[in-house]
Amino acid sequence: MAKRAAAQARVRNLGIIAHIDAGKTTLSERILYYTHKIHRLGEVHEGTAAMDYLPEEQERGITIVSACTTVQWHDHTINLIDTPGHVDFTIEVERSLRVLDGAVGVFCAVGGVEPQSETVWRQSEKFAIPKLAFINKMDRPGADFSLVLGQLETILRARPLPVQIPWGHEQDLRGVIDVVGMQTLVFDQATRGEQVQRLPLDDDTLALALPWRERLVETLAEADESLLDDYLAGQPLELSRLQALIRAGTLERRFTPVFAGSALRNIGVQPLLDGVVAYLPSPLEVPQAEGVDPVRNQTIQCDPSPTAPLAALVFKLQVESGHRLALLRLYAGTLHEGDTVFNAIQHKDERAQRIFHLHADHREQRREAVAGEIVGVMGLKFAKTGDTLCAKEHPLVLERIAEYQPVISMALEPRNADESARLDEALDKYLAEDPTLRLEINEETGQRLVSGMGELHLDVLLERMRREFGISPRAGTPQVLHTETATASAAGHGVFDRELGDIRHAGEVRLFLEPMPRGAGNVVRFELDTTAWPQPLVEAVS
Ligand code: GDP
Repeated sequence: MAKRAAAQARVRNLGIIAHIDAGKTTLSERILYYTHKIHRLGEVHEGTAAMDYLPEEQERGITIVSACTTVQWHDHTINLIDTPGHVDFTIEVERSLRVLDGAVGVFCAVGGVEPQSETVWRQSEKFAIPKLAFINKMDRPGADFSLVLGQLETILRARPLPVQIPWGHEQDLRGVIDVVGMQTLVFDQATRGEQVQRLPLDDDTLALALPWRERLVETLAEADESLLDDYLAGQPLELSRLQALIRAGTLERRFTPVFAGSALRNIGVQPLLDGVVAYLPSPLEVPQAEGVDPVRNQTIQCDPSPTAPLAALVFKLQVESGHRLALLRLYAGTLHEGDTVFNAIQHKDERAQRIFHLHADHREQRREAVAGEIVGVMGLKFAKTGDTLCAKEHPLVLERIAEYQPVISMALEPRNADESARLDEALDKYLAEDPTLRLEINEETGQRLVSGMGELHLDVLLERMRREFGISPRAGTPQVLHTETATASAAGHGVFDRELGDIRHAGEVRLFLEPMPRGAGNVVRFELDTTAWPQPLVEAVS
């Protein structure tokens, strides 16, 4: 038991959130490289990055599906949950935010805080997720560390606390200066940054570090007044004391530790991983998930103890040549290989035949998984994305998928009889993987009407059909299913009014405008600040 609890404390369920092009894929790939999960570095846009595994992602250069990859770093298990960055995949973003406990926001040192990082960052705030920030691309012309810090404050209303600063910038980026350990970190380029040299500060680097060190001490002293006294008295500040204060402040979300570097130039990635382990929470340190007992209609808080009744969310389903691999986040109890579990959404018993840790290059079979872990499970016959698996005598529902309303639809027609069967096979697979897709069949015309969360969502579906099933059904022009009305002031505030079922939701909203990929109007994303709202983010097409 004690051993299991210690193992739970060494898990980090981590998401990387970023605007497209901020360098999320490059950073993920470096993480896999330094944790020895891949053995060579491929340029992302040659399409060889390990995390982006759908061809259309490689072509578009964006990350669409949440994959999870488990890596080891300094005796800790980091589950790297790839969080989709595109606006059409907000449900996937929300679901991945639910299953992670901490996140790293990646920002481009030139582009700064861009609209999409703003959207996802705000969503992560709603889920009260402690975060670190990584200011990437410090090697690019125009890189400006302080500018991005300012934007974190003004645009994201975060309180950035630099724990590492770049040493140099643009083509003179030489490494990073650690203002907690007061040393310089230099990354050996002959080993692709794998060898890191830690050097004492000299006069120049000390002069660069001091103002940031003062800012760090002042901020940390808010929780420990004697720290400032000790600092002013010239006493050495122990690393463990500073780290404990940074950890506490991060978990309480009083500030966001900031790291800097360049993923592409192999600078600053390992210290960021050290930061993930040192400052982000284990599954035992976050508020425990809540579900609803569907029989008694009571709220239940998950108990992370390994001996509690099982509660697990299927947050992703991959169907590969007929084999279903479900990605689960366990919130309570233990799942053993061969266990029969109750699927509380499908009302069916099913068997978890095999349990895996998913690495970039292989699957590692496990006998069991405990609360807090993320694992892949084979053998579940009915499970769909969003389903809850639990103990039959303790039924629980963690997520209600029915609350997501598709916003756009298109009619699909097979080109011939042969294509018809494959089209149905393809739709079966995609509907199982993604319950936010809806299918209706017109009995008279035989047309299949597919609805999704946005134009790109449907585009990706067609692209996958072409690649995976070799079919190109005729697709009607996407039709907007419902248009919301909102009036916005120039400042980005507006009034929102919508009826959902028999409930009317109205109120003040904050609006975010996001351009659609192919000029089909604008997606307006709005945030309505009310807890009565069943679906905190809805989208409108105008
Ligand atoms: P993603 O869309 O956030 O996954 O971003 P990618 O990792 O695909 O990176 C977008 C582009 O930025 C690619 O051309 C990368 O090679 C480049 N890139 C990523 N990190 C850095 C960096 O640290 N410095 C520079 N100069 N370019 C970078």
